[in-house]
Amino acid sequence: MDSIVVCDFDGTITKVDCINDFLGHFADKKWLEIEDDWVAGRISTVDAMHSQFDLIKGMTEEKMEKFFDSVEIDESFKAFYDYANKNKIKVVIVSDGFEYFVGQVLKRHGIEGVEVYSNKFSFENGKFEMDFPYINPSCKRKAGTCKCSFIKKFKQLYKTVYYVGDGASDFCPADKVDFLFAKNKLLDYCQKRDIPYIQYTDFNGVMNNDRFRYNNR
Ligand SMILES: [Mg+2]
Ligand SMILES: [Zn+2]
Repeated sequence: MDSIVVCDFDGTITKVDCINDFLGHFADKKWLEIEDDWVAGRISTVDAMHSQFDLIKGMTEEKMEKFFDSVEIDESFKAFYDYANKNKIKVVIVSDGFEYFVGQVLKRHGIEGVEVYSNKFSFENGKFEMDFPYINPSCKRKAGTCKCSFIKKFKQLYKTVYYVGDGASDFCPADKVDFLFAKNKLLDYCQKRDIPYIQYTDFNGVMNNDRFRYNNR
């Protein structure tokens, strides 16, 4: 395979950031202050996630299931994923959210088999457990899953690295890929720093973009 598409999950594949949506539903409002600190890069993902999930009381399995049922995704992601598979283009999700959330949401939309690299999460006996196997102590964004480390690795394995993202967790890989698809906060970030980007609104736009088609004929 010559090409790889590295996709962010929250706000990129899902319509809204599902971790934030989850916190908005279940955590004390103080999670927003922690979020501001994280977006500004003042605190690490590990610290942010622990402090934010500590603000959730009385969680149950039922509430979690109901929440996952409610998460909407960009419906064109499935067509994009099928197209990529057919054309031998690798697609991976690298998320600074949680692998468990990604799996639960994709499963509900009939999408299976996508490779996911993300932080680990479990909910047992009323307690949240987290683990961060892809942490990189030298990561500038203090991410839980350092996306720039993955990009470095993918650059060695593939001729062309595409990236699709929307927010703060995508700032660090933004200037390290061959083609960056950006929207929302990520787009503003690139404009301010003169980082080249391709604007997109959904995966249909990525799939039909000339630069994506041209390299994968
Ligand atoms: Mg995102
Ligand atoms: Zn990093």
